[in-house]
Amino acid sequence: MRKKIVAGNWKMNMDMQEGLAFAQAVDEYYRVKPSTKAEVILCTPFIHLSGVAEILKNGNVSLSAQNCASEPSGAYTGEVSATMIKSTGAGYVIIGHSERRTYYHEDDKLLNRKTTLAIDNGLSVIFCCGEVKAEREAEKQFSVVRRQLEEGLFTLSADDMKRIIIAYEPVWAIGTGLTATPNQAQEMHQYIRGLVKEKYGNESADQLTILYGGSCKPSNAREIFSKPDVDGGLIGGASLKKEDFTAIVEAI
Ligand code: PEP
Repeated sequence: MRKKIVAGNWKMNMDMQEGLAFAQAVDEYYRVKPSTKAEVILCTPFIHLSGVAEILKNGNVSLSAQNCASEPSGAYTGEVSATMIKSTGAGYVIIGHSERRTYYHEDDKLLNRKTTLAIDNGLSVIFCCGEVKAEREAEKQFSVVRRQLEEGLFTLSADDMKRIIIAYEPVWAIGTGLTATPNQAQEMHQYIRGLVKEKYGNESADQLTILYGGSCKPSNAREIFSKPDVDGGLIGGASLKKEDFTAIVEAI
């Protein structure tokens, strides 16, 4: 059975005090009532990582960064390396979020470097892919996702692929209130699993966790998660309210 995951991407929200208080509340919730169906991950800004790691220690919630540097160390002012992230106690990093691809012009080659560094430093990677609205309208969504995976991920060994979680996030659905229909999500997730099967074989494809992201909320999560190739969600806006986030976890 492959792992189910619900990850909350805080993006650039919450100051230090708000973030620690929120993490404390989520941590306490899952100590009392552990999620038996899905691993729960908080994806926080860099500044929160070590404080949140301390709160989550020995609990039932995991921790992720939202980005990492494309170089291992050195004169890169303002950057945070994969080694640094690992040293906080975080186990995961998001790479290739569409906001990074769009606003910071991160391309497939750069994302491949980041992914390799993250894996080499013992992190698991939530690797995001997905098409923009114009690409979907031109029916190019499959070729776009194929390119993103081939160039960003498929240089990894089968062993390293065990530490990859793919998040399919149609860009037109992120933070817009528009959601892919459960069938659109299933169709793409099945396609992605097929690509992984072609490249790495049956076992890797079967074990791969594929998350859906894009305006996922308590009211639509159950139907999306009911699809056979949807193994959970990467949740943005709705992860900032404990009641919504825990309701989405329960939808698994
Ligand atoms: C995200 O940031 O990965 C995301 C899916 O955002 P939202 O849920 O707000 O659409």
